[in-house]
Amino acid sequence: MDQRFAHLSNLAAIDAAHHIHPFSNMQKLNAEGTRIIERGEGVHIWDSTGKQYLDAFAGLWCVNVGYGRSSIAEAAYRQMQELPYYNCFFGTTTPPTTLLAQKIASRAGPKLNHVFFTNSGSEASDTWFRIARVYWKALGHETKTRIIARNNGYHGSTVAGASLGGMTWMHEQGNLPIDGIVHINQPYWYAEGGELSPEDFGLKVARELEEKIIELGEENVAAFVAEPIQGAGGVIIPPETYWPEIKRICAKYQILLVADEVICGFGRLGTWFGHQYYDFEPDLAPIAKGLSSGYLPIGGVLVADRVAEVLRDQVGDFYHGYTYSGHPAAAAAALENLRIIEEEGLVERVRDDIGPYFAEALSSLADHEAVGEVVSVGLMGAVQITADKASRRRYEKPDDIGTAVRNHCVSNGVIVRATGDRMLFSPPLIIARKEVDQAVDTLRNALDWLRDGQR
Ligand code: PLP
Repeated sequence: MDQRFAHLSNLAAIDAAHHIHPFSNMQKLNAEGTRIIERGEGVHIWDSTGKQYLDAFAGLWCVNVGYGRSSIAEAAYRQMQELPYYNCFFGTTTPPTTLLAQKIASRAGPKLNHVFFTNSGSEASDTWFRIARVYWKALGHETKTRIIARNNGYHGSTVAGASLGGMTWMHEQGNLPIDGIVHINQPYWYAEGGELSPEDFGLKVARELEEKIIELGEENVAAFVAEPIQGAGGVIIPPETYWPEIKRICAKYQILLVADEVICGFGRLGTWFGHQYYDFEPDLAPIAKGLSSGYLPIGGVLVADRVAEVLRDQVGDFYHGYTYSGHPAAAAAALENLRIIEEEGLVERVRDDIGPYFAEALSSLADHEAVGEVVSVGLMGAVQITADKASRRRYEKPDDIGTAVRNHCVSNGVIVRATGDRMLFSPPLIIARKEVDQAVDTLRNALDWLRDGQR
């Protein structure tokens, strides 16, 4: 253990007394005790008992270059010594911040050349939400304020972020969504596709966007937002027909297309951004996570030329910003992280090598009696648990099943995540083939345990 904390044998008790955790049931957590993670290296982390885990979830979808990269720490350290903080308000910037904006733009779609920095994906959601409304107002379309989002999408935990997200259990806490946000169905064929083929279902749910635009009136709709692949909602990979139809609809109507790239960005799908994988170009794209591989908090919104030009030429002052927008140390860490991704060819590695290997390894679970479907793109994958393969019947309490299978994997040394009864993988982009095998084998053992009724 780090010597600074070595004397604290009672850290769990201190945690229970003082620390309110995000997305946690505190009563349960205090009763069961907190898992204290102390160290990371490559794809592995260690807890305070010395137990090693293969982190097949890259923290929270974010540690793309893996743990223990000293060059990122050194870049942040050098920047902190040189200039630990200055802001980007009132016509100022710092060198790493500006260079980071240039670097990000160089990797995004050709018309995405501008970045507004935030500290997180949630703040990025709030930021584009305001930009979209400000944009239309500046163009004289005062009524174009409504945003269409998707059921079960996730866009963060701020008031706008949670409202844009389509998680009803989040909406119940805090009287959300706020006004002006409506949701359409997600392209989750396994659970909601019924008798339709995946292709027909993909078209059907994409066309809900068109129906909603017509219902609300094009003159009242500012934007549509979606994750290229819905992450926290369960790695919902849309049928092939989905994005081309969304693209067609967005081109037909005057609304902004917002791609939430917080998970899909920075190599996870074997492309720099998810919009490149699905061959479309958004007007706005929130980013975070893989931007710094989580080494320091930083996010942002990629802004297309046509929107940035209106902000520049017609809006005047945009009254929006965070004290730490474009924080120089976070920007220096992010620049070094992106340098590593480029130098080690991690995006290409995901596309050509480890992504296909991962897809093949994961699909070896498809025949398992407890598995309904296996899906993946790049290094983002899901295994759907089923109570009956033929009818796609789900267990009565999907959350309990997913949690039990996840806990089985974690106690056997592999961190995976469960969303309901879907088991999710999102490992660091540096994961080796044998580590992919270990992760898949560990899940297979957990599924055997479930099938054999030992739960
Ligand atoms: N958007 C997506 C797609 C996300 O997955 C997340 C977080 O998981 C967010 C936004 C919110 O990002 P943050 O937790 O950094 O606020």
